[in-house]
Amino acid sequence: MLKAPPLSVYVHMPWCVRKCPYCDFNSHTAPTSIPAEKYIQALIADLEHDLPLVWGRPIGSIYFGGGTPSLFPASHFATLLSAMRARLDLRPDVEITLEANPGALEHDSFTAYAHAGINRVSLGVQSFSGERLMGLGRIHGSDDIDRALQSLSAAGIANFNLDLMYALPGQTPAQARHDVKQAINAGPAHISYYQLTIEPNTAFAAKPPVLPADDAAWDMQQAGMDMLAAAGYGQYEISAFAQPGMHSRHNMNYWRYGDFLAIGAGAHGKITLPADGVVRRYAKHRHPQRYMQGAEGGGWLAEKHVVTDAELVFEFFLNQLRLKGGVNIDDFGPRTGLQWTVVEARVQKAIDMGLLAVFQQRVRPTDLGWKFVNDIQQLFLP
Ligand code: SF4
Repeated sequence: MLKAPPLSVYVHMPWCVRKCPYCDFNSHTAPTSIPAEKYIQALIADLEHDLPLVWGRPIGSIYFGGGTPSLFPASHFATLLSAMRARLDLRPDVEITLEANPGALEHDSFTAYAHAGINRVSLGVQSFSGERLMGLGRIHGSDDIDRALQSLSAAGIANFNLDLMYALPGQTPAQARHDVKQAINAGPAHISYYQLTIEPNTAFAAKPPVLPADDAAWDMQQAGMDMLAAAGYGQYEISAFAQPGMHSRHNMNYWRYGDFLAIGAGAHGKITLPADGVVRRYAKHRHPQRYMQGAEGGGWLAEKHVVTDAELVFEFFLNQLRLKGGVNIDDFGPRTGLQWTVVEARVQKAIDMGLLAVFQQRVRPTDLGWKFVNDIQQLFLP
């Protein structure tokens, strides 16, 4: 039987200084002056409109993603967060994350963002090498990273993540290891370590760079994981590593198939409606100009649909199988409204193949299964 799971809020800030050639997110090159005030008012109006979906449900995390949210001055986050506090039931220990880019912090220091209510930062470092950053088309250099880390330290924000990529154009395994070492030395609570992939409809897809060979990329992945483990960063998801207790609560809610209220241009949400017996997905208008037309333009919503039973099964396994802790059998019924018997044969097939094992109400990928998570996920395709 469907039950409302934990609820988070995702807020999309859609502008970047310029588009990175590997990026397939909903990010738009910022105009000379961002219409920040107008956008924040549109976010508040959009939130207001969505409130009936989540009356009375406590919020465990808020995530400002993008785009580059740090292009907005801290005062705008203070306005938005106070509007959210007035309208939503934020838990006293709510996690509030700001995605920031080292080259886009000219507006404010992290102290100003902390005063506005931000208590966690995710910094898009990607690499500490100036040459690799140029190859990625990033706007920042290693000096910008140093300045951002100093600003974090001055703000007393210890709960921060560094995004780090490997298998970059021209990168050697030794250079990738050096990047991981520098990331560890910066002392973050959390590190996201993930491989550069070429996504369709990006500049890199149109003109692919030369990437390291598969065996070199494998070395980088394994060496990076070993170094992170040795430094006390436990892997809890395919690309996520954290010091004890410092996992991203917001991302954990995604991976555990929780609910998300989504506001902002192109934001995607998922809301469980137990009274109607359905899980709904929806998306807001992608283009910032269209989004900001808001109520006068016919609203913020671009599309919504009820998730079918077959999609619920796939989405549940797609997400929970990413976690080292595996799939929580007790979550399945409340989050999909379906009986476990619907998936038993497929789970058994993966167990027979040696890819999954059952342990204390959890179905976990085995050591072998962890290498073939994509294949296991495909067993649950609609
Ligand atoms: S900074 Fe991030 S969101 Fe913006 S274009 Fe680059 S990768 Fe995309």
